[in-house]
Amino acid sequence: MIKAIVGANWGDEGKGKITDLLAESSDVVIRFQGGANAGHTIINDYGRFALHILPSGTFYPHITNIIGNGVAVDIEKFLSELESITSQGVPVPKIIISERAQILMPYHTLQDAYEEERLGGKAFGSTKSGIAPFYSDKYAKTGIQICDLYDDARLMDRLRRAVEVKNVLFAHLYHKPPLDVNALYETLVGYRERLRPYVGDAVLFVHNALKDGKTILLEGQLGSMKDPDLGIYPMTTSSHTLAGFGCIGAAVPPTAIKEVICVTKAYSSCVGSKTEPFVSELLGDAGDELRRRGGDKGEFGATTGRPRRVGWFDAIATKYGCMVQGATEVALTCLDVLGYLNEIPVCTGYEIDGKRITDFPVTPELMKAKPIFTVLPGWQCDIRGITSWDALPQAAKDYVAFLEAQIGVPIKIVSTGPKRHEILYR
Ligand code: GDP
Repeated sequence: MIKAIVGANWGDEGKGKITDLLAESSDVVIRFQGGANAGHTIINDYGRFALHILPSGTFYPHITNIIGNGVAVDIEKFLSELESITSQGVPVPKIIISERAQILMPYHTLQDAYEEERLGGKAFGSTKSGIAPFYSDKYAKTGIQICDLYDDARLMDRLRRAVEVKNVLFAHLYHKPPLDVNALYETLVGYRERLRPYVGDAVLFVHNALKDGKTILLEGQLGSMKDPDLGIYPMTTSSHTLAGFGCIGAAVPPTAIKEVICVTKAYSSCVGSKTEPFVSELLGDAGDELRRRGGDKGEFGATTGRPRRVGWFDAIATKYGCMVQGATEVALTCLDVLGYLNEIPVCTGYEIDGKRITDFPVTPELMKAKPIFTVLPGWQCDIRGITSWDALPQAAKDYVAFLEAQIGVPIKIVSTGPKRHEILYR
């Protein structure tokens, strides 16, 4: 049985905590897309961790953690993240990196940085971790798979082909020094043995696990809005952030995904450049206050440390985000954050060219959208750590019920704090 945990919005919805929680009763956790360009925050008995590439089941010895074929594997970051958690007392986790996954190469990171530099003020606010060049190369068929690491002649051949193209680009478009194939080859060969204990046939493993009746979690990175097909293109990421892509990136059968848990926050937050459409954004002092109070340490990127833009809950974007994920239920996080407000606006419509719409539009329309708010009463008290629905103040219950009616998917989990036990089930 497979459950997918994915984001309804722009990422940072609190998927890490929900995955960590649900991982406990699972056998396998799989990352199926993206790379080390975003992070999950997990707070547990070992400490506070920002995981970028390791799956969220990393802290449980009973779980097999899979880095699926759909992931961009930055080997250096993988090894250093592993080293960093084990040095903090976490036992070495069970990990399988799919031998079909591709390697995020040092030149992908370089290309990302060069491209941002070239675009100057028109840049998309990339995290410069090489994700866009990585996926471009994958589809252009110049990528290098993990399995290529273990075949000398093939590795050199794959590298030569890739570098030939990169060097034309680097010299003539970016005016940067050329890449040295031999140095790259040596770097990759240096990873081989360190990586070997973790490399395996993840496809067969997953299918056997399903046959054996195991519970598998698919762990999504970022959220619906960042999907290159159904998100706010081109201010998206370069891999698919939708649960459906788990069928490719984690190699699971489409019919095996039984639950899609869509995570959304009780307010909105979004990283990325200022040019990105973010209709329900809250600016000025009120925005600063929400940013400061948000999450567990304020709304700042887990990977980049960048301040996140914040805003009110956007029911239009979230309804769409849940729809394209195929959400069977919603986990609402960070409800506790809103306890300081006496009134809470919720974006329940967009005004575009004088017309009110309630269905999420394409990007050029979205760029013109102005928010229409419905204002709900706040509960004005601290609800952090409440674990039963009945114990919530009426106004908080009404707020959750209102969001649920807006998005049309049952909100079954409500998170009332960053810690693992600060959660309630409806
Ligand atoms: P992810 O990428 O979706 O996993 O999201 P992040 O982990 O980057 O961001 C979510 C932030 O909110 C983290 O700092 C979490 O510790 C924090 N968080 C998660 N759930 C809650 C909650 O219910 N209340 C509060 N106050 N913080 C939460």
